[in-house]
Amino acid sequence: MSGRHATASELELYVLGALDADRVDAFEAHCAECDACAAALSGEASLEIAFEQVARRAARVQVFRPLRAVGYGAAGVLAMAAAALLWVGHAPAVGAGEGTAAVGHAPMDDAAILDARNDALDGG
Ligand SMILES: [Zn+2]
Repeated sequence: MSGRHATASELELYVLGALDADRVDAFEAHCAECDACAAALSGEASLEIAFEQVARRAARVQVFRPLRAVGYGAAGVLAMAAAALLWVGHAPAVGAGEGTAAVGHAPMDDAAILDARNDALDGG
């Protein structure tokens, strides 16, 4: 077996590609012969991959959240606009008949409907 066992710091630096160049050859030679260090290196690499996946997922969530908030905000504004339009459409015309009941959307009574239909049938 060549060299000493790898330290936790060396394992991490090697996986990150940041181990000193003059130590890399001895490190690799040792890990090729030492089962314990090879297993530790494998575990460090798996851990690093898991960290990377979590970081990527977290980055995606951070991008998604503001977009979702904007979507909810837009939906809320649209709902409020729709509600306002419905309310305005059903509100009686204010000031249309000063001093009298609002006539804007008063339902027609049966006599008025019959008169209108008879007028239409008579041609005027
Ligand atoms: Zn070793």
